Amino acid sequence: MHPSSFEYFAPTKMKEALELLSKYGEEAKIMAGGQSLIPLLKLRIAAYSYIIDISRVEGLNKIRETGDFLEIGALTTVNELEENELVKEKYRILHEAAVQIADPLVRNRGTVGGNISHGDPSNDLPAVAIATKAKLEIVGKKGKRLVDADSFITDSFTTSLEEGEILGKILLPIPKVSSGGCYIKQKKSAGDFSVAAVAVNLVLAEDETIKSAGIGLTSVAPKPTRANKAERYIEGKKIYDSVAREAARIIVSEAEPSTDFYGSADYKRKVLGRIAEEAINLAFERGLVR
Ligand SMILES: Cc1cc2nc3c(=O)[nH]c(=O)nc-3n(C[C@H](O)[C@H](O)[C@H](O)COP(=O)(O)OP(=O)(O)OC[C@H]3O[C@@H](n4cnc5c(N)ncnc54)[C@H](O)[C@@H]3O)c2cc1C
Repeated sequence: MHPSSFEYFAPTKMKEALELLSKYGEEAKIMAGGQSLIPLLKLRIAAYSYIIDISRVEGLNKIRETGDFLEIGALTTVNELEENELVKEKYRILHEAAVQIADPLVRNRGTVGGNISHGDPSNDLPAVAIATKAKLEIVGKKGKRLVDADSFITDSFTTSLEEGEILGKILLPIPKVSSGGCYIKQKKSAGDFSVAAVAVNLVLAEDETIKSAGIGLTSVAPKPTRANKAERYIEGKKIYDSVAREAARIIVSEAEPSTDFYGSADYKRKVLGRIAEEAINLAFERGLVR
């Protein structure tokens, strides 16, 4: 099938993109890598009169540490993220998620900003943003604003972006010395979306108890979710087998999976329990290595 007809713009400056968005309002749609949007247009699940392709907008594909954050431009492709040496070395949770997204073709075009802005509860990067307590920089005609990763995706395929706004950057706190993170994704076969996935980021105190925990879940609720109760349960504790097992049980109780192509709700709970326990143990082990 072909998409319904639309007028196409390819601005190279953020200012131009914002002007086009404000001019055409609800009839316009931002496109970045097109990996999620184009299939929707081709299947005519979505139709817009104006497509604003931001993939050529300058300055939005940098990965660099500034101040307390790793700054990732929204147009950074998943492939650029996966190949980045700093990310490989210092941000394993992010690297582990990136390499498991789809296949090389999709990763070459799909962007970090698109992966998060699409609001798909099965996309992998939002859970990482939640677990690492990332902030998102949103750009609009009135200027910039920062939102917590938690409050960005408000429901399935729905974000807190207001009309005329574009996601500009993702800001991940630079990891503390004694911290460990990981992303574990259970999928049916290579390149698939997950049955369930979990991002765990732990900061350890001097005595090896958990000072701060971040746990984000993929594919087990209508939106990417923070496992609040499990975070509170492990904070202040050392991770022993029994603690990891109980935390995993709490994580499962916080999930709201539904039956779909990837498995029944019950199966997803079982998978989540197993990978959550494994992820907590692994993140803790990584945090112990100073
Ligand atoms: C076969 C296949 C398998 C896949 N498997 C996985 C997987 O395993 N894990 C996974 O995480 N993802 C997967 N994806 C999704 C893929 O990662 C997409 O690239 C990603 O969801 C969207 O990124 P994009 O840049 O292509 O966005 P687009 O398709 O261009 O846009 C998607 C949505 O985000 C909005 N948008 C894009 N950028 C911005 C921005 N900067 N500001 C505001 N709004 C913006 C668009 O308006 C649109 O609504 C898969 C996709 C395909 C086609």
